[in-house]
Amino acid sequence: MPAARKRRTPDPAITPLGAAGEVTGSCYLIDTGQARILLECGLFQGSRNADARNRARWSFDLAGIDAVVLSHAHLDHSGLVPRLVRDGYGGPVYATAATCDLLSIMWQDSAHLNERDVEWENKWRRRAGKPLLTPLYSMDDVRAALARLLPVDYDAPFAPARGIGACFHDAGHILGSAIVALDIEHARGRTRVVFSGDLGNSETVLLRDPTPLQQADLLLLESTYGDRNHRGPVQTRAELAGVLAAAHASGGNVLIPAFAVGRTQELLYTLGQLEREGLLPQAQVFLDSPMAIAATRTYERNADLFNHHDREQLAGRSLAAWLPALRYSETPEESMAINRIGGGAVIIAGSGMCNGGRIRHHFKYNLWRREAHVVFCGFQAAGTPGRELVDGARRLRLLGADIAVHASIHTLGGFSAHAGRDQLTDWASRFQPRPRVWLVHGEDAAREALCAHLRREAGLTARLAMAGEAIAL
Ligand SMILES: [Zn+2]
Repeated sequence: MPAARKRRTPDPAITPLGAAGEVTGSCYLIDTGQARILLECGLFQGSRNADARNRARWSFDLAGIDAVVLSHAHLDHSGLVPRLVRDGYGGPVYATAATCDLLSIMWQDSAHLNERDVEWENKWRRRAGKPLLTPLYSMDDVRAALARLLPVDYDAPFAPARGIGACFHDAGHILGSAIVALDIEHARGRTRVVFSGDLGNSETVLLRDPTPLQQADLLLLESTYGDRNHRGPVQTRAELAGVLAAAHASGGNVLIPAFAVGRTQELLYTLGQLEREGLLPQAQVFLDSPMAIAATRTYERNADLFNHHDREQLAGRSLAAWLPALRYSETPEESMAINRIGGGAVIIAGSGMCNGGRIRHHFKYNLWRREAHVVFCGFQAAGTPGRELVDGARRLRLLGADIAVHASIHTLGGFSAHAGRDQLTDWASRFQPRPRVWLVHGEDAAREALCAHLRREAGLTARLAMAGEAIAL
């Protein structure tokens, strides 16, 4: 975590500690002079020094934090909370009820993956006589962190600390995701801060659109896709239907590496729509991921949070009832049984970027087949097998095997869970009078593009938030 000021900030301020000039490690320290809260406490992910940053000394006094407020369950926003609790934080962690449900799945998976990675790393460290690593946090730390959660409903005001009022509004990004509005009292008066969190893509299925808000003095706005718009839902669905038809004609399987929370449930709903329109020729759709199955059940338990149209379509049915071709593969045996199917199935498995999980086994059995199709429906980070495939690799090294790539590779851009450039601009331009705008959660190219677009299209002056640099309230 980048060094924030070690002394108390002299003026009431928000200090970004991550997700400034990058899209992971969301964390903002809010110091009002009489109270201190952490807005978000996320993992750094993807970059080479991410692990070191996740293990770095806290740049603030843990005992001085009154509360933690989380916008949603994605690990880059929430994943360091178990470490915070292990290191001594004993206060409340506020999130929506659906976020609390998902956090149980996300944190356990994070602890499990971390324990596995450390075990692997320690194998060679032991041989090399190097000091052994300990996991970032354990299952016990996750249990302790879950006990700190305090669920709050959307649109229900709460007071996380003295002089701070807060309210969650639906952000439409993943289940339970929230825009966080904060009314902050400090020595110089009162400041209404609105933090967009990760703002949803209003064109995706299941969830509601991001809540439009009008009032803010200071707006912290995400900018992940500040430099582009996504393809629309009609085109995305048509592209998916085209792949399903091509795979049916060639007799191969369709493999979809999917992110367990959000993307998977949207895919299942979309496949159900295509089935109704006679555009799903495959008789079997396998969801081969225990985590994605657990997340799907959490979505189903919270169906009251879906948008009106899709809730009416579902009419109380589970996603499995909505998509009768759907089969859940929970055990390794059920997963291995899919390997015997040479064609005619849709196989959805994690991980989303193919750097772990069961999708790798399905690649081993399918990538070399000319009749197979692979559909990517999410961002593929540099250095991952998914990125290699998207970039046109002809061979892939996976699970100790060298696999020829003959399958057709497709990328669908329309499933993004983030608002595109025009959606961000439209949402931000509703605030009256104009707030001070600081851009966070975006790489610099995307932030700069959004900055220029906001000025041109909405007359909004935005600035780029920098890690460790206090923003006065
Ligand atoms: Zn997110």
